[in-house]
Amino acid sequence: HNHIDHATPEKVRQAIAGGDTHAHIPPYQTLADYRTEGGYDTLARLIAADDWDAVEATVLASGLRGLGGAGFPSGRKWGFVRSYPGPRLMAVNGDEGEPGTFKDRYYLERTPHLMFEGMLIAAHAVQADRVYIYMRDEYPAVLEILRREIAALEAAGLTPPGFIVLRRGAGAYICGEESAMIESIEGKRGIPRHRPPFVAEVGLFGRPTLVHNVETLHWVARVMREGPEVLSGVEKNGRKGLRSYSVSGRVANPGVHLLPAGSTIADVIAAAGGMAPGHVFKAYQPGGPSSGLLPASLNDVPLDFDTLQDHGTFIGSAAVVVLSDQDSAKAAALNMLRFFEDESCGQCTPCRVGCEKAVKLMQADWWDAGLLNDLCDAMADASICGLGQAAPNPIRLTLQHFGDEVSG
Ligand code: SF4
Repeated sequence: HNHIDHATPEKVRQAIAGGDTHAHIPPYQTLADYRTEGGYDTLARLIAADDWDAVEATVLASGLRGLGGAGFPSGRKWGFVRSYPGPRLMAVNGDEGEPGTFKDRYYLERTPHLMFEGMLIAAHAVQADRVYIYMRDEYPAVLEILRREIAALEAAGLTPPGFIVLRRGAGAYICGEESAMIESIEGKRGIPRHRPPFVAEVGLFGRPTLVHNVETLHWVARVMREGPEVLSGVEKNGRKGLRSYSVSGRVANPGVHLLPAGSTIADVIAAAGGMAPGHVFKAYQPGGPSSGLLPASLNDVPLDFDTLQDHGTFIGSAAVVVLSDQDSAKAAALNMLRFFEDESCGQCTPCRVGCEKAVKLMQADWWDAGLLNDLCDAMADASICGLGQAAPNPIRLTLQHFGDEVSG
């Protein structure tokens, strides 16, 4: 006998209002817990000192860069946003739609107030009138934690009522792209905007807008509490800072592993307990499907911003997927392009049609490298946003490194 969960009008109303609390809530650090260990003392100290140039300088000195994938120096964004006349707004990007990325969820399900405190520090730094948190709806526990803790912050007088607005993303990958996210928050269809103007000047509701990823704000709080050395003091392979690698695939212990930014894939696999039993390392996705696949032989490159450029790819949000001898690079690349075909917003032809044509060509027994390379050039050159521009990466890298799987 199947139990049928009827969608009664009351349940539908609850779900729409976001009051559906069936989520399992993991134990996490509440506002009360966070305050007993000095939480929000940093914010109070910075408000009393009222020297936001110094705060910006500290964040810059830490070397913190945007951890949503683009890697823009975090402190510099504040200066841009402040240079435009107010009122200003802020948005937190919690869409975390890059396949293989789950670090934002990891931090929010454990220490949500580090994100909140970093967010309030950044909001003060640019004098934002309001903050919109755009949170992935596939994270019900995170949504419930955020609802509870926003209410707690208001009750404690740490934020005025209504200062933090929680918005639920409905599962479109493209809404993680910051200008599409802003369209979505405004209640429109989430499609990327043409730039310039950049959102720092014309963002939410036409106002100058500061956009940060969840994890970036987590580190703003830690940098301002512990000093810039918490990041700048960590050095490895000529790189500075820390990276939260979301590691999945054929490793013994998948999960979020916080490592020096100069770590190589060998270090990341070691931190994840090595390969899963019976699997031999073959290939890896360094940072989401947009980064394509690299061969196991490229195992001495630091997985950091800028370091993968020479290899035709990038670290993005550090979503590392490890493939083994039991996996097909060709099938993995096809899967990546199928994903882009599904998630293309359809606004521009090179991406909308290009992804569809690429999937057709990649389904053949052997790939037509000439045709695929022409298609990749058109998509990379003429697409409006990063989705279409980076979608060729899995094709190019698979042709380059796994040619024996795709050509006769
Ligand atoms: Fe939309 Fe793709 Fe064009 Fe981006 S590149 S705007 S996702 S159609």
